[in-house]
Amino acid sequence: GYVFIARDITGERQAEQARAELYQLREANAIKDEFLGLVSHELRTPLTMILGNAQALGARFRSLPPEVVEESLRDMTANARRLHSMVESMLLLSHLETGHDVESEPVLVQRLLPAIVEQFGTAYEGADIRLDVDPALPPVEANPTYVTQIVSNLLSNAMKYGSKGSPIELVATQGPDAVRVAVLDRGSGITEEEATRIFEPFTRLDRTQFQASGAGLGLTVCKRLVAALGGAIGARPREGGGSEFAFTLRALEGAKAGAAAALAGDTA
Ligand code: ADP
Repeated sequence: GYVFIARDITGERQAEQARAELYQLREANAIKDEFLGLVSHELRTPLTMILGNAQALGARFRSLPPEVVEESLRDMTANARRLHSMVESMLLLSHLETGHDVESEPVLVQRLLPAIVEQFGTAYEGADIRLDVDPALPPVEANPTYVTQIVSNLLSNAMKYGSKGSPIELVATQGPDAVRVAVLDRGSGITEEEATRIFEPFTRLDRTQFQASGAGLGLTVCKRLVAALGGAIGARPREGGGSEFAFTLRALEGAKAGAAAALAGDTA
């Protein structure tokens, strides 16, 4: 004969799911706590400098030589700028973190990149950027504001950590189902190991500490922006010295691409 044993496991499944969710929440909370700790630490340094300078100026303004006053003010401005850029980056990161839908549209990289370079050249005097873009690139699905921010961040790093005498190269090529945008410089470069580390928040390499100021958030922002657009970003040492930073943008699939290309032709 047979013996039937039936057991209702709905309750057990629900409990297991609840445990898994609780674990995820704890994990997310721990990451947030760690990030908050890092942020507070990073904000404290420029704030302490501003406060110290402000107090010294307040107490001894009349007796200090003008050049000391000027230097103090310059320090305060530089540190305030740093704070400002950190706060802006963190606001953007938190906005991306909340999983907002990214508004994307067909973008022609071959159109957008020259505009970014022009805008960048106005902001950074002496920027020598060589643009090398395949004119037949397919349209990508992207958000032009995000792409502008990613490229500008990478160009600004190439300016800060690159070699003064060598031009920065901005290259766009077609890859499988994607367009690849790369920024290359001839600076101190990065190693394979550093290449993954520098995308983590507040990571600054020791050897570049005194080359330029920064908050160590630019590449984190780039990574999150690229991820929001469904692409990937990475860095590697460049052959012959320097570094190469590259990211991909998804090419629009067939039908939409045809329509976008026709539209681009109309407005060319
Ligand atoms: P920041 O420039 O504010 O320090 P980033 O997140 O943009 O922050 O960069 C993190 C670190 O990665 C930099 O401090 C620097 O050490 C390294 N890095 C970034 N770009 C380059 C580059 N083009 N060449 C060499 N090192 C770089």
